[in-house]
Amino acid sequence: MSNILRQPLTGANTRKQKIEGGTMERTKFILEEKDMPTSWYNILPDLPEPLPPELHPATKEPTRLPPPLFPEAINSQEFSTERYINIPEEVQAVYRLWRPTPLYRAYRLEKALDTPAKIFYKYEGTSPAGSHKPNTAVAQAYYNKKEGVRRLATETGAGQWGSALAMGCVFFGLELKVYMVKVSYYQKPYRRILMETWGAKVVPSPSPDTEVGRRVLKENPDSPGSLGIAISEAIEDAFAHDDTKYSIGSVANHVLLHQTIIGQEAMKQMKMAGVYPDIIVGCVGGGSNFAGMFLPFIKDKIKGKKPDLRIICVEPQACPSLTKGVYTWDFGDEAGLAPILKMHTLGHSFMPPPLHAGGLRYHGMAPIICHLYKLGFVEAQAVSQVPVFEAGVKFARVEGIIPAPEAAHAIKVTIDEALACRESGQSKTILLALSGHGHFDLAAYDEYLSGKLADYEYPEEKVKEALAALPKVS
Ligand SMILES: *Cc1c(COP(=O)(O)O)cnc(C)c1O
Repeated sequence: MSNILRQPLTGANTRKQKIEGGTMERTKFILEEKDMPTSWYNILPDLPEPLPPELHPATKEPTRLPPPLFPEAINSQEFSTERYINIPEEVQAVYRLWRPTPLYRAYRLEKALDTPAKIFYKYEGTSPAGSHKPNTAVAQAYYNKKEGVRRLATETGAGQWGSALAMGCVFFGLELKVYMVKVSYYQKPYRRILMETWGAKVVPSPSPDTEVGRRVLKENPDSPGSLGIAISEAIEDAFAHDDTKYSIGSVANHVLLHQTIIGQEAMKQMKMAGVYPDIIVGCVGGGSNFAGMFLPFIKDKIKGKKPDLRIICVEPQACPSLTKGVYTWDFGDEAGLAPILKMHTLGHSFMPPPLHAGGLRYHGMAPIICHLYKLGFVEAQAVSQVPVFEAGVKFARVEGIIPAPEAAHAIKVTIDEALACRESGQSKTILLALSGHGHFDLAAYDEYLSGKLADYEYPEEKVKEALAALPKVS
């Protein structure tokens, strides 16, 4: 290979960029298919304190057998104590359509920021659905099919999860009905079309198709919808049909488990680059993509091998479950049909403002992340929409990739940390979880570019109201 091909793109080479331990300056770190991890990493046996139990929504007692929402294989993964769980060959075969995903060194961003920090990003936007979500969608479709389920029901916010599951279902021959949060259904018609192209049926939520939907519509015909409502509708649908199960795209332990393929790949790729991260940054909606990235690394922090590793969860200021929520027992959904989880929550009846980062509009947070947050192993920051888009545009102009608005939250904090390195003169290694591309979010970019994008204040009063409606658990 000629030397010029090994160089980072024009202008990015003013600083000495020799990577420690490596002989070559590289921009992309690509694993071969044979190096794709063949098991998921389960954090549960490595937690310094056990995770609080999940409570049955009706009895409010600890249960390992919540309502029959999921197939057996998924239920057992939810509470498994096995450290590594084999990825079925059929699931690996689908993963190989786009996995392993690339890890990049962001030379051009470093240059633009004039920072001594080394910035790496792991890009999940190369999947057919454009995000990390197929990592669990494919696995869930597979297990449901194997156990004889004919049809799935699910919710979707921005449409990322619905489209990922639509693809998973069509691969394994399952029908899918998607309850799509109404504000996104109208803001992002292309994601609906994506789901329909993969064969799913999509309705805006709240919908007249379920009791929950009809109740919400009666109270507020203009309800923009929320993930909490859409989850309730999908669960009600699954309960109402014998051949149907429910599938969730984030928050649950088994979803985080399936996403750990991201972090395990990134670990190998960082090794190829001859570095180990000092800071890992990602966005959190329900917490799945970022947990998938950091859980394989946090083991080193828990075991004392890398005690100063910083892990920063980034959430929207308008829906700040970690930084402003209460750590308590709450329902995962609006109607109280889902298991009760111990998590940071803004209240299951909280209706987040119609942010563009639809995937971050969730009232709660993955119990695993909340637990690690309480134990002091991860940090959290809330950022607002306008600076997030500013960061997303800056990233697009130097690295090329137009990030999903969700992922742009993480870019904002990555840039802040890189600038802090410039101030302090420290050369830290930052690993950014870039959860997806923003090709279906261009209307939001359009709003930003034309100066019409507004910031939402933290809706303190509405959160107070929602917190008053928490379930009573003794
Ligand atoms: C859904 C989504 C998120 C938020 O969900 P998590 O479970 O927190 O990962 C983040 N980024 C993208 C691109 C998404 O589609």
